[in-house]
Amino acid sequence: MKKLALHWKIIIGMILGIIFGFIMNAYNGQKFVTDWVAPFGTIFINLLKLIAVPLILASLIKGISDLKDISKIRDMGLRTIGIYIATTLVAIVIGLSIVNLVKPGTGMPQDTIEKIKLKYENDAGVTDKLMKASAQKDAGPLQALVDIFPSNIFQSMADASMLQVIFFALFVGICLLLIGEKKAKPMIDIFDSLNEVVMKMVDLIMLFAPYAVFALMANVIIAFDDTTILAKLLQYAFCVVGGLLLMIGFYMMLVKIYGKKSPMWFLNKISPAQLLAFSTSSSAATLPVTMERVEEHLGVDKEVSGFVLPVGATVNMDGTSLYQGIAAVFIMQVIWPEGLTFSNQLVIILTALLASIGSAAVPSAGMVMLVIVLESIGFPPELLPIGLALIFAVDRPLDMCRTVVNVTGDATVSMLVAKSLGKLHDPKPKEWDDNYEAVK
Ligand code: ASP
Repeated sequence: MKKLALHWKIIIGMILGIIFGFIMNAYNGQKFVTDWVAPFGTIFINLLKLIAVPLILASLIKGISDLKDISKIRDMGLRTIGIYIATTLVAIVIGLSIVNLVKPGTGMPQDTIEKIKLKYENDAGVTDKLMKASAQKDAGPLQALVDIFPSNIFQSMADASMLQVIFFALFVGICLLLIGEKKAKPMIDIFDSLNEVVMKMVDLIMLFAPYAVFALMANVIIAFDDTTILAKLLQYAFCVVGGLLLMIGFYMMLVKIYGKKSPMWFLNKISPAQLLAFSTSSSAATLPVTMERVEEHLGVDKEVSGFVLPVGATVNMDGTSLYQGIAAVFIMQVIWPEGLTFSNQLVIILTALLASIGSAAVPSAGMVMLVIVLESIGFPPELLPIGLALIFAVDRPLDMCRTVVNVTGDATVSMLVAKSLGKLHDPKPKEWDDNYEAVK
């Protein structure tokens, strides 16, 4: 029998997990899921996080030393950042256009607003987001820049501070170039071999993915307790999902026109990463899989994927910025319509761009940064908890969807940058058991 493709196995795992979650909801089995099922999802995410830092270090150091030329690093850096900013701006403009056209927030019945307010205004989730946002806001203007430069790389690795690890890897890679090939070779060989090992770890961890997504999805489903409120927010949710789909369409256009590849081929190859992004709501946790798919299945050389993808996971969040644009205007339409001016929307474009760069690649980070977007346009602080309460009930499913777009955007840009630098080749996928016969 032909082996079922990985993405189908993951999809089956997800569907069964959703069904199981609903059954458990119906029979009050939420505690069973939390105690006995959810931990397997956590183990899977832990394993992915475990290999993210060694993977970035190994592939970036090896990749940069392969470039053989410092000016190519500058070229790659500038192109990457330029395309990232451009795609994020497209995302925000799409988001703002949709929410202004559809106006999902106007005419929301007062009793619905009251009901949502009552249920979520003092919810621990909402207060937690507000607290995190105020901690972020208190930092000085150059703090984000200072944070890129580590003082202790082991600390950075322990905290999984992506940009610090990337900076260190680039620094080491450039110095390897500067000391000359002969002296650099032993260290490059070590990182090359480490890279192969970590890639193999990804293959092995992915064998567990269909079971893990079962656990993750069941755990998400048991968290939805009030579906009546969910239904009331459908129009807003559809705006976000519609915008995200348009964004995927935009990427596919780029793949076709500039990448000269078929969008179906691209989606087929990248789908396991997208499905994991959906199940985990975290681009950082998905990163090792994104890197494996992009390198081995799309054919992007590691010097490009090793730089573009980790940077993208941290600073390029098109799905998140599209969502922030829609959510900010939606909240204003419902509770602060007088703030809906053209100039405020321009400020939203700028702050949503910065906020998506500043958002951590973890679940719900986009909602924390939404607070900062709202504050930048003078949103009345006393209305903030109500604003967040309004969108809180549907935030998790929307987070899952926007994370898919964040990951797809990173993969698309890495392919475009690779193409423009002549670093896109025929893919050579490796299986977990390529060498198994020889060692079993
Ligand atoms: N969960 C998103 C990510 O990891 C960030 C967000 O929009 O909350 O990409």
